[in-house]
Amino acid sequence: MDWAAAEALVRAVPPGGRVLLICHINPDGDALGSMLGFGLGLRQIGVREVQATFPGPPEVPEPFRGLPGLDLLVPADVADPAPDLVICFDAASQSRLGELAGRLSSAGAALVLDHHASNEGFGTVSLVDPGAAATSVVAEELLTRLGVVLDPAIAECLYVALTTDTGSFRFAATTPAVHELAARLLATGISPGDISRRVFDTRPFGAVRLFGEVLGRARLEPAAAGGRGFVWTFATLEDLARHDQRPYVLEALIDSVRCTAEADVSCVLKQTTPGEWAVSMRSKGAVDVSRVAVTLGGGGHRFAAGFTGRGTVEQVVESIRDQLDGALLGPGA
Ligand code: AMP
Ligand code: MN
Ligand code: MN
Repeated sequence: MDWAAAEALVRAVPPGGRVLLICHINPDGDALGSMLGFGLGLRQIGVREVQATFPGPPEVPEPFRGLPGLDLLVPADVADPAPDLVICFDAASQSRLGELAGRLSSAGAALVLDHHASNEGFGTVSLVDPGAAATSVVAEELLTRLGVVLDPAIAECLYVALTTDTGSFRFAATTPAVHELAARLLATGISPGDISRRVFDTRPFGAVRLFGEVLGRARLEPAAAGGRGFVWTFATLEDLARHDQRPYVLEALIDSVRCTAEADVSCVLKQTTPGEWAVSMRSKGAVDVSRVAVTLGGGGHRFAAGFTGRGTVEQVVESIRDQLDGALLGPGA
């Protein structure tokens, strides 16, 4: 982790220079929160020309529409084509940047902040800490080194990033340092109750009914993954249309599937176009799902990973099932 090099890249932005912040497609709480929090921090230290964007449709998922710093966002197609510095958040590979990947080379310099073990290693300087619970952990440390003082707006962004990626401090990556960071963020006066209700505990009634249907068709395969069990379900564009719901409501679905006691591995297939699926996988520890995801063209973390699946539901599920035995972790792994 070459903090000095990263700090130098930011400090090298000339007065009046332009910085473009980008994050991965279908941005989640960590991607948006660390990006916007960092953007607000840059503004605080006098960088005026800051834009933030993400690939794909310029639609912020409802749970994140209360985030501070949304005014930094611009649609990808009008984002600065050649900024002095581009900073990339929470993306393990250039492919996750979609149409924005070219900015890494058209910008004067590229700084990458991430926490995926599968990070491909790109950018002029990259700060990738696979031990960090969220990209926001890396972002906060760099902000502090740059002399930024946490204010409530920056803190709220980083708090959303931290709570979404740690499952509200439940996942294994929740170290003492994570709680210490949470304490620093809360000390700015932000309201964790309001933030959590907005981000985790609010969804349209149509989504409640949609979840009922999709969970009702879940399948359990107790013999899969060397007998550790595999549970999966899927949601189609038709399902979304029938309940008048936007695709992002499905991001919470994996949490209702992965609680299945009889399965180590859980999976949700979310149809994106006919014949194409955004696949989310989770493991409770017996299987390295990032290995499965990487084999199938995706990436992620050991116990939370994903990829783009092509074909029918059964074909995609079979491709996963076939990889599970080979991704079993031995004792002590
Ligand atoms: P998700 O299931 O979408 O919450 O993603 C879990 C993890 O897998 C995240 O760390 C993502 O970065 C990663 N991931 C999800 N989908 C993909 C994909 N298509 N390609 C690479 N990584 C992915
Ligand atoms: Mn992410
Ligand atoms: Mn993340």
